[in-house]
Amino acid sequence: MNSTNYGLEVWGNNDLVIEGGKLRLNAGKKTAIIDIVEDLRSQGITGPCLLRFPHLLKKQIKTLYEAVEKAGKEYQYSGQFKAVFPLKVNQYPTFLEELTKIGKTYNYGLEAGSKAELIVAIAHNKKTSPIIVNGFKDKDFIVLAFLAKKNGHDITITIEGLGELNKIIEVAQRFDTKEIPNIGIRIRLHTSGVGIWAKSGGMDSKFGLTSTEVVQALKKLKNAGLTEKFTMIHFHIGSQLADITPLKKAIRESGNIYAELIKMGANNLHAINLGGGFAVEYSTNADKPSKTYSLQEVANDVCFLLKTISNDKGVKEPDVYSESGRFICANHACLVAPVLELFSNEYTQEALELKEQNPPLIEELHELYQSLNEKNAIEYLHDSLDHMESLLTLFDLGYIDLKDRSNTEILVHLIIKKALKTARNLTKAHAITQRIQERYLINFSLFQSLPDYWGLGQEFPIMPLTHLDKKPSRSASLWDITCDSDGEIKYSSQNPLFLHDVDLTQESYYLGFFLVGAYQEVLAMAHNLFSRPNEAIIDIHQSGYKIKKLISSDSLREILIDFDYEADLLIKKIANELDDEAKKMFIAITERNGYLKSIS
Ligand SMILES: *Cc1c(COP(=O)(O)O)cnc(C)c1O
Repeated sequence: MNSTNYGLEVWGNNDLVIEGGKLRLNAGKKTAIIDIVEDLRSQGITGPCLLRFPHLLKKQIKTLYEAVEKAGKEYQYSGQFKAVFPLKVNQYPTFLEELTKIGKTYNYGLEAGSKAELIVAIAHNKKTSPIIVNGFKDKDFIVLAFLAKKNGHDITITIEGLGELNKIIEVAQRFDTKEIPNIGIRIRLHTSGVGIWAKSGGMDSKFGLTSTEVVQALKKLKNAGLTEKFTMIHFHIGSQLADITPLKKAIRESGNIYAELIKMGANNLHAINLGGGFAVEYSTNADKPSKTYSLQEVANDVCFLLKTISNDKGVKEPDVYSESGRFICANHACLVAPVLELFSNEYTQEALELKEQNPPLIEELHELYQSLNEKNAIEYLHDSLDHMESLLTLFDLGYIDLKDRSNTEILVHLIIKKALKTARNLTKAHAITQRIQERYLINFSLFQSLPDYWGLGQEFPIMPLTHLDKKPSRSASLWDITCDSDGEIKYSSQNPLFLHDVDLTQESYYLGFFLVGAYQEVLAMAHNLFSRPNEAIIDIHQSGYKIKKLISSDSLREILIDFDYEADLLIKKIANELDDEAKKMFIAITERNGYLKSIS
């Protein structure tokens, strides 16, 4: 990793640039993100804040449609392309409003996997844009889809098993033919995905019909007079596909199933739904990319393979649906959060309290510190780390006291700082000091904002918003403010993070956590009763930017109510037990934190 640009050229997607030491949006006036943060601070937003950038959402949607259009032209592909956004990836209303507005010109639709999502989809979707319904369905879920159709929506119910088809046939008897939605069948492929989310495809996957079941389904549809409604086959082989090979196999397999079904009498089957899975580049290291293919490559393969199969088998080239989610929205949001504390910042020379008589190893450490220079820096650094190990052992055995131990910590810290400043061979010095990290306490909750880091070990690009014209000197581990020891992003030598040595009494230092717009918000956990962060929608235009919408994080009161506490009673109970002065202080705190408007 080039330590001054944090691998931006690998994961940045041309969305961001570094100029004048600041991280900036690569659009319009190239606004620095820190300027937006300062602006928000002046409006009272001091804690962590999720920034949404609709222009980046637009960019991804446009990129998707253009890549397919280009491939379609190149291969003279006659099928149409349609796309839907899978709501499970992000269903927050502020997000969805922007998405559906941008999607209008493309007839970009929505995918729903539950009754609640379907209600959201029906309410937000333009009638000419498709709705796809996936997931396990009970009768009410199916009836909801029929009602959407009756109301003029272009809706397809994908069946995940034969039982669902029986339910659909039953419900269909109560509706007019033109009120019956299109029916899709999710197929169980023998090819499966790769990566940590690979359980959605393949023979042992949770979803889909085997080829025997597909044949039975077609028979059932014929018997019920619903063959005309069977329009689509569907698969989804998993998210964040690292490699294109499983996808190509899935396209071939589904293309052949499609053609065979038409030959068996599925005379209105005309679409293949490729699901999602297109990966986002999260890696900060060009040598270890998280994906090995491009969107254009996928689009080309889809057109080429489906055209070849259709021509060979003498059927019409199918319409192609995409349910890409992560690719569409991961980059549109970043979390910005201030560093609250550096855990060794207070180790200045003044803190050192050497005794008249010090243990010999401490005297040596002191000597190393004073005589360290450009030439001997690396050697002295090694020596001091050795001494530290010995001194800590001596402490455990009861030979030195706490004051000695404290002096050890301070001296080693001072030596590291001095070595990093003076060493000729900085890389070597870095490598050595990787063992000793500065701990940055960040005002955010990992469980709220990066749940996939905690749950799946998914890495996210992290970088400071400022100081980017200076070389970062400290190997950093990040601590969140929950009191869970898992709330930490440990320093890893595989994926090292270096940050700047800042004096927080003199300046503020913000970190950005990027590519958090997909899945993270919806998987968030209120661990320790921390609420969602503040949220701001930022419109970028030619002459700058505008904070279009600002949503403050939930108040303490709302969080407690969310967890079914009688929030008002709780507060009253505590307040009433306090004397007058304490009560006043307590109420001031609750009011400042949005607990109660007023209590009597
Ligand atoms: C989750 C899911 C998607 C979206 O996958 P991404 O990897 O985010 O593109 C698409 N289709 C179905 C059926 C899904 O379950």
